[in-house]
Amino acid sequence: MSSIPLHSEFDSIESLRSALQQRKLSARELAVSALDAAQAQSDLNAFVHIAPELTLAQADAADQSIASGTAGLLAGIPIAHKDVFTTQGWRTTAASKMLADYVSPFDATVVSRLQQAGAVSLGKLNCDEFAMGSGNENSIFGPVKNPWDHSAVPGGSSGGSAAAVAAGLVMASTGSDTGGSVRQPAALCGVSGIKPTYGTVSRFGMIAYGSSLDQAGPLARHAKDLLELLDTMSGFDPHDSTSLETCDGATNEPGRIRSDFNKAAQAQNSAGAKPLAGLRIGVPVEFFNAGLAEDIAVAVEAALQTFEALGAVRVSISLPRTELSIPTYYVIAPAEASSNLSRFDGVRYGHRAAQYGDLTEMISRSRTEGFGPEVLRRIMVGTYVLSHGYYDAYYLQAQRVRRMIVNDFEQVFSSQCDVIMGPVTPNLARHIGDHREDPTADWLADIYTLGVSLAGLPAMSIPCGFGGTQNRLPIGLQIIGNYFSEGRLLAVADRFQQITDWHQRTPGQK
Ligand code: GLN
Repeated sequence: MSSIPLHSEFDSIESLRSALQQRKLSARELAVSALDAAQAQSDLNAFVHIAPELTLAQADAADQSIASGTAGLLAGIPIAHKDVFTTQGWRTTAASKMLADYVSPFDATVVSRLQQAGAVSLGKLNCDEFAMGSGNENSIFGPVKNPWDHSAVPGGSSGGSAAAVAAGLVMASTGSDTGGSVRQPAALCGVSGIKPTYGTVSRFGMIAYGSSLDQAGPLARHAKDLLELLDTMSGFDPHDSTSLETCDGATNEPGRIRSDFNKAAQAQNSAGAKPLAGLRIGVPVEFFNAGLAEDIAVAVEAALQTFEALGAVRVSISLPRTELSIPTYYVIAPAEASSNLSRFDGVRYGHRAAQYGDLTEMISRSRTEGFGPEVLRRIMVGTYVLSHGYYDAYYLQAQRVRRMIVNDFEQVFSSQCDVIMGPVTPNLARHIGDHREDPTADWLADIYTLGVSLAGLPAMSIPCGFGGTQNRLPIGLQIIGNYFSEGRLLAVADRFQQITDWHQRTPGQK
């Protein structure tokens, strides 16, 4: 194999796995070629740390397991991790000067579970600093380019994760989603991504941003590929006190999501010409207001019609607090961030200022130098809303509204619909540098993803069309489910992908 994008030869993890099992190519050959491809497309700036010797050691181990018949499900599959997951060997920087030289002594649970299944990591992927952002421009490594249009952002904060999959540098990647950071870059780069129910995937070793919101999730081309990763990554972990032992009565162990997927897929297969008959799709009126770009409204409408042709019915619903999710999230997330980031004081690890007088000055200089402007902004907001005198007015109030947002979702899922569908973003990928004058402009673009995160619900994005000049920028469809319905969501998405090919388009050959 030469250094060509993976997707030009292998359409899915399954097809690559069977080539590896049949020994048509070795995991090492594949890893070498993927490393070459990453190098050839280094102008995307998707990778921030590559260490070929570590990758090749994993590939050799995968080859041995294939030869001895002990291969895990992901043996030899090239993936890469957002640089907020700790990794032994590869640096873990969270795209911050604060952690520029940090090498973790342990792997995040997500990383070790994927490695145990045989996945081969190509390295670490660029992202917004401490996962704060919507365009992947808040990174000490500089912006990531959208593979579909190099002048556009890939979305954020998991921009490197989405760009690497879209460019065919990896079969799948990990991301983290606090307010939309898996779904939004997936949408803007034309790949699929899922954020599971809060507590499904361990946060151990995932650098904390907003602890009550953070969930890891995979990005890949097909919903079925997401299933492979998510099922492997998920499961109870005693190292994370918010990791769930049970999900909806079932034990939260790898295998749960796969078995739910299989059940849902089987029911679809036996339903004949209308495989999604009986599926009620809630369409929130608030997701189609004046702020939604025309191209996106058209693509989402076409996707809804495809679901109707498969037998689903559309129900108009209301999520009346959609707009309020922005101020609610941008109080709660910074509040939690200000507390989480207080550990970076220059004492134990992280950047330490070269010159200072006393301890207080050492801490304040280290933090001022180590954090970028967006992170400092969030810390200021977070500290303010938590401070005596403002706590009740802002933080407590935001928590009350959060409860109301949860109730709104509970109400529609209990009586009106099985899944909710709508856009992921109000706009197509913007130009790199566009929001530099107004850093909070990006916050408004999170309107359709934040409510889900505040409620801890599972949601995904799948490609459903293109828009913009020359129709080159991808559009995502958001599918939101009730708690613990990841398997079903993936099965619904898979059914759509069986009769559409948006997820198979690749930059350059669209
Ligand atoms: N754009 C949101 C923020 O900056 C979401 C980020 C995320 O999900 N990590 O907070």
